[in-house]
Amino acid sequence: MPQALVTGGAGFLGSHLCDKLLARGFQVVAVDNFVTGDRRNVEHLANNPDFQLLEHDITQPIPWDGPLDRLFNMASPASPIDYMQIPLETLAVGSEGTKNCLELAKKTGARFLQASTSECYGDPLVHPQVEDYWGNVNPIGPRSCYDEAKRFSEALIMAYHRTHQVQTRIVRIFNTYGPRMRLHDGRVVPSLMGSALRGEALTIHGDGSQTRSFCFVDDLLEGIQRLMESDEILPTNIGNPVEMSILEFAETVKEVVGTEVPISLGPLPENDPKVRRPDISKAKRLLDWEPKIALKEGLERSLDYFRQRVSEEAS
Ligand code: NAD
Repeated sequence: MPQALVTGGAGFLGSHLCDKLLARGFQVVAVDNFVTGDRRNVEHLANNPDFQLLEHDITQPIPWDGPLDRLFNMASPASPIDYMQIPLETLAVGSEGTKNCLELAKKTGARFLQASTSECYGDPLVHPQVEDYWGNVNPIGPRSCYDEAKRFSEALIMAYHRTHQVQTRIVRIFNTYGPRMRLHDGRVVPSLMGSALRGEALTIHGDGSQTRSFCFVDDLLEGIQRLMESDEILPTNIGNPVEMSILEFAETVKEVVGTEVPISLGPLPENDPKVRRPDISKAKRLLDWEPKIALKEGLERSLDYFRQRVSEEAS
């Protein structure tokens, strides 16, 4: 059986990726230090003989001596409230952590894929964002620990590819949502779903005119797996290009939850991007990929999960 290793395998995206890889016939080892992950995301895999969980911080060399075919590097705090609390750990995982993954890929000959981010484009001056746009990133602002860590990772990956011929892939992920997100990770989907389910007002930052594009987790992971199996070395955007204002998003949440709670406006965080939308022409052309799940359907598929988390919180 082919062997895959997923760093950040107990996180939101990483745990779903483990499920998909197992379903495709891989043996999977998830590596996680649980800094933002949750054991509950992988506990259903505990008795699966093809799954192994390694509790480890990837800023230290990864203790894997077996053969390896595919290495997905998903480890990094991903939500602003997480990475602003632990900026040094975030910079470390994007530098030392990525280097340790690349060393393992070099040693084993595994193909490596990096979960990069639309944050590489910063507060973009080109809209929608195409892969050859170099971005508008504040290198010293409160978000820089994440944005610059991810940009450094990309530079390191290209250097390993050019110097050591490691087979590398880079996906620039745009806002993705679904079951297993933490209710209080500060990202807009769990935050507004949680408020709506509790019957509280939906708080929006700014005037709600800033735009986002939301991709359902299953669509994203299909794109990521296709990219891994393709020959493309350079960064590729994967996300949903349907763009909407945060205000429109809040209205959709209310509709899906079936509530009439009010919407209230709060202050806009520093360096919050005003617009965000992927140009996915490259993924369409190279991977024959595009998202299939509309926002309303994706939120409906996530509803039971968020409802359960809200009721656990109340009890
Ligand atoms: P998450 O916080 O749920 O998952 C990240 C996982 O990485 C967690 O389980 C965490 O414990 C683990 N981790 C962090 N530092 C580690 C370390 N030093 N060693 C081992 N494990 C470590 O976040 P997510 O949304 O699942 O994001 C996964 C990846 O995708 C991240 O790299 C993130 O930057 C990227 N990404 C996500 C989105 C999104 O919308 N969800 C958007 C862009 C990029």
